[in-house]
Amino acid sequence: MAVRIERIQNDIERINKFNATPEKGITRLTFSEQYQGAIGYVTDELKYIGAKISYCPGGNIKASLAGSDDNGPAVMMGSHLDTVMHGGRFDGVVGVVSALEAARIIVEEKIAHRRPIDIVVFAEEEGARFNWGLLGSSIWTGKLDLTRLSAIKDTDGVTYAEAMVRAGFEVSDASLLEPQKLRAMLEVHIEQGAVLEKRGYRIGLVEAIAGIQHLDITIIGRADHAGTTPMDDRSDALQAAARIITAVEEIAQKIGSNTVATIGRIACEPGQANVIPGRVKFSLDVRNPNKAILDSTVAAINQAVNDICGKRHLGFEIIPLDTAPPVSLSNEILDLMVEKTRERHVEPLRMISGAGHDSALLADVTETGMIFVPSKKGRSHCPQEFTRLEDIGLGCELLLSTVVALAASSG
Ligand SMILES: [Zn+2]
Repeated sequence: MAVRIERIQNDIERINKFNATPEKGITRLTFSEQYQGAIGYVTDELKYIGAKISYCPGGNIKASLAGSDDNGPAVMMGSHLDTVMHGGRFDGVVGVVSALEAARIIVEEKIAHRRPIDIVVFAEEEGARFNWGLLGSSIWTGKLDLTRLSAIKDTDGVTYAEAMVRAGFEVSDASLLEPQKLRAMLEVHIEQGAVLEKRGYRIGLVEAIAGIQHLDITIIGRADHAGTTPMDDRSDALQAAARIITAVEEIAQKIGSNTVATIGRIACEPGQANVIPGRVKFSLDVRNPNKAILDSTVAAINQAVNDICGKRHLGFEIIPLDTAPPVSLSNEILDLMVEKTRERHVEPLRMISGAGHDSALLADVTETGMIFVPSKKGRSHCPQEFTRLEDIGLGCELLLSTVVALAASSG
């Protein structure tokens, strides 16, 4: 069951020819002309090997290889083909071409499988066109109601439902993804971080996908003259914010256990060189794969804000924004993938995904596993994104052997 690297390379090149921003990274927004071109290439390749193509709710695509027991639940594999603006050549594409190549090998080598094997392409994973990430998988798993597609619009005011129709996308299988229809879901993806490269691993196996809590924090002080107000008579919101920002890093480091906390945006008012800052507002992004640790990190940061502002007699406001719960992936699939990786004399790294993925939404529907391949210097969502072909080939082989084992077994 050796996968053909040159075929994977050709797939990646062919898909990335469909690009709205040549010379400036890859831009392939959901249902755009470029997106439909890439989908056309992949579905043609899948039709060629005899897969039955279905257009599914939310703009997702499924290509099925019938098993000897066609009523049984299917083993699913795939990823996405949409990109961010000026993104890279590998994010999403690697998972789709790995599934495509694995399917080709199964057909060419006539590998027996009892269960149906489905190759899937999720729509609008990045949320770059409709500002709603994981939209296709949210609809397909029933987590977001189909009727919402008439309200979600792109920046030109085109609704998701209209864009689907304009792209000639007609739903041919209206059923949602349900537990009884699936045996497992597997996704190969680039790591989008530098952990594998730095630690010298070629394969990462994802144990859990981090939960995320977003907050907005505002520190309320008093704007005064920078020259006439003595140092001990100030209500400087930025001085307090600076100490809170330092505390956030210390708290995340102290809690450890994969905790990450980021202040990515800050605004200072009135924002003049000769005025003491009266109001500072900043964002906070906290992530952890464990809900209890995520909650206690947020609580510790709240306490730090309270203490620092209290000491300085400043007001503050903490507004919790959107949150995504952490997701544990399947231990059964993880153990199987560890075994399959070691069969290739490669040691995998068990790891956490700090980024969200469609697979996170599948994890409560079926046994779900993710395979990470290294990203050079951790770069992603940019033209510099790069993953070595031999690592993609290894990820594809691991996907293939895991899917074949799951599709053949009677369990
Ligand atoms: Zn992706």
